[in-house]
Amino acid sequence: MTKYTVPRGTRDILPEEVALWQFVEQKAREIFDLYNFREIRTPIFEHTELFLRGIGENTDIISKEMYSFQDRKGRSLTLRPEGTASVARAYLEAGRGQREPLSKLWYQGPMFRYERPQAGRYRQFHQMGCEVLGATSAYQDTEVIVLAQHFFESIGLKDLEVHINSVGCPTCRPVIKERLKSFLGDNLDSLCADCRKRFEANPLRILDCKNPQCNEFFVMLPDISDVLCAECKEHYHDVQNYLNIMRLKYKIKPRLVRGLDYYTKTVFEIISAHLGAQNAVCGGGRYDNLIKELGGTPSPAVGFAFGLERAVLIMQNQKVSVREHRPYLLLAPLGENAGNRAAILANKLRRRNIPLEIDISSRSLSAKLKTADRLGVRYAYILGEDELVDKCGQLKDMQGGSQKKISFEKILEEIENRYQKYRRENK
Ligand SMILES: [Zn+2]
Ligand SMILES: [Zn+2]
Repeated sequence: MTKYTVPRGTRDILPEEVALWQFVEQKAREIFDLYNFREIRTPIFEHTELFLRGIGENTDIISKEMYSFQDRKGRSLTLRPEGTASVARAYLEAGRGQREPLSKLWYQGPMFRYERPQAGRYRQFHQMGCEVLGATSAYQDTEVIVLAQHFFESIGLKDLEVHINSVGCPTCRPVIKERLKSFLGDNLDSLCADCRKRFEANPLRILDCKNPQCNEFFVMLPDISDVLCAECKEHYHDVQNYLNIMRLKYKIKPRLVRGLDYYTKTVFEIISAHLGAQNAVCGGGRYDNLIKELGGTPSPAVGFAFGLERAVLIMQNQKVSVREHRPYLLLAPLGENAGNRAAILANKLRRRNIPLEIDISSRSLSAKLKTADRLGVRYAYILGEDELVDKCGQLKDMQGGSQKKISFEKILEEIENRYQKYRRENK
């Protein structure tokens, strides 16, 4: 017999874990609202050209990680490997730059990269992110960093560190690259094969190498921040200034770069002590040239994104628990006639917004009470054949164990009152 399994690098998120995901998503929406970000939804696939142009041809994503395919008319399409390029495209296509000087947008959804699967890393993974388009001021960089930190604290993550750096702009980037190349050129033998390839095409990316041998060597690298141009230096200074006055702790990491070519000036990561080697919970930065690169009028921008898989993984490691949504009541009819009565009650109670389950099976009362325990309901309402005669059932308190006779007529109101009280107490 054939066994079907999920494709390599993908996974099912089962209901017990979904509770954590929903918690993360709900918190993110709350925090994004506080900072006046609005949601945007873009397609899961785009023209391949968008990513070639937007992300940069010399990045790992473009050279080996994209899920590209031809549609039936021979057009090359790609499952989105990240969210920023699509948001920038949508922003341009809708002409939002003319309508609002500052567009603050957030997105969420699955992204796709053909990578080697490892702990917390999948080929279909899920991201949420924020983008500020039209963001001229260094304040916007800071606001995004503060928002990110605020959000991760709100989902209960501890021991976080904010790392920042500036990767320069088209004016000073060539100088940075030269500085790096002249240092690395004499030491190419100390680098891994990937880095030797990056040396010509994209030397800045070498700093992002996770190979321990390379990392050991990077300690000796020259500091690139002193070759920033005057404008980049001032911007970097302003970002730090805002962070200082907003009292957000951060560390300057002169070798921090991001895996995408579009970043300019500020880049940042938030690091968790609970993640091991792949310890960034989010990353982001400024991308002043992406909009221009995609054919729009130049518009500076800044944003960040985080992977839900990793956020959930840290929550699990830190034993953050969230309350799962459970039914409040189990209707336990015994016999066919009682079953009919219970079906009617179920319908009425659900219309009154009471979450409930009904065990319509022909199993015994004790089996049904086990169901009630397993579901974690607060009450079971038992409808026996005998009790149908005087039109009432037994309301059993599943925590205290006490039982009380309540008529069909009164049960709706009774449950509704108890449930509302429970809701008020468990907000
Ligand atoms: Zn510069
Ligand atoms: Zn390397």
